[in-house]
Amino acid sequence: MNSKKNTGKVMTVLGSIDPSEVGNTSTHDHIIIEFEAILNEPLNKSEIKMMDEKISLENLGWVRFNWSSSKDNLKYNDVNLAINELNHYKAAGGKTIVDVTNIGLGRNPEKLKEISNKTGINIVMGAGYYVELAQHKGYAKDGVEFLYETIINDINLGVGQTNIKSGIIGEVGCSWPWTNNEKLSMEASVLAHKSSGLPLLIHPGRNQFAPLEIIKYIDDLGADLKNVVLGHIDRTIFDFEILNETAETGVFLNLDLWGHDSPFYPLAPETYMPGDHERIKMVEFLIDQGFEDTILLAHDICTKHRLKKFGGHGFDHLLTRVVPWMKNRKIEDKIINKMMIQNPQKMLTIK
Ligand SMILES: [Zn+2]
Repeated sequence: MNSKKNTGKVMTVLGSIDPSEVGNTSTHDHIIIEFEAILNEPLNKSEIKMMDEKISLENLGWVRFNWSSSKDNLKYNDVNLAINELNHYKAAGGKTIVDVTNIGLGRNPEKLKEISNKTGINIVMGAGYYVELAQHKGYAKDGVEFLYETIINDINLGVGQTNIKSGIIGEVGCSWPWTNNEKLSMEASVLAHKSSGLPLLIHPGRNQFAPLEIIKYIDDLGADLKNVVLGHIDRTIFDFEILNETAETGVFLNLDLWGHDSPFYPLAPETYMPGDHERIKMVEFLIDQGFEDTILLAHDICTKHRLKKFGGHGFDHLLTRVVPWMKNRKIEDKIINKMMIQNPQKMLTIK
């Protein structure tokens, strides 16, 4: 099978499009998701009963702090809710969303197709496997070849019987420490990336050295590093020397947690989640170092409390607030356009 028949195109849930149609893009988000795999108890054990409460104005402050402890917060898969949220994105000038909801996160191609049809937003759907914690036991027992077949079918034929095709491989989940099964999933993903020409988007473990470890591993497997996106850079790398070293490998760096306000970070309490003011400084540093052609931006919305309906910033946050803030900080328009339009366009174009 000639896997590379879509070279030069961008694959969306409605079929292939010309890269010129990509426009403003959030390069890592979840339009619908089932994220219960990360559910954990709140820091204050006297609040455990709140885990079962539906989100309301009265408990929203609690949910914002303990966002991974609210069951209601970790799942949204309603088509009409998604359409309303994306209509705000569209009104702000958004054209494309990369939805890296893949195996383990409740991916639903038919819903994404309906949402794209009704909003006019291009949706690029993910393939491959999220972290091991989100998979059923034994998911990798049949080895790399089996995992590869699943991924390449999602790319070439479409997910299941839907004929709806993935346009990116990711987010490929890696924990810290990196598990053996996750390495098998990565190997299968790299094989699919090489045979299809699709970009490979990675969720690294929460350690500053995780991205470099992964880059070395996939480089040895023959991945095209210029067609690789290292995700969650803003919650992973705090030391600017390591950031520089990671950028020098040539991969795209995704600062993909804009708007995620979580100074106490329940998934990694030993570290912290930077705020948008620190993300801006990272962007300015990377621009100063000459990496403006490999910076990508996104929100990684994966909980209800970040949707507008539940008091959150919504999918338009980058366009309505961060872009004006960057202009105010004197980041040149031509560089902002690269980060919002041209770099995503280049990244999504099938090689
Ligand atoms: Zn994500």
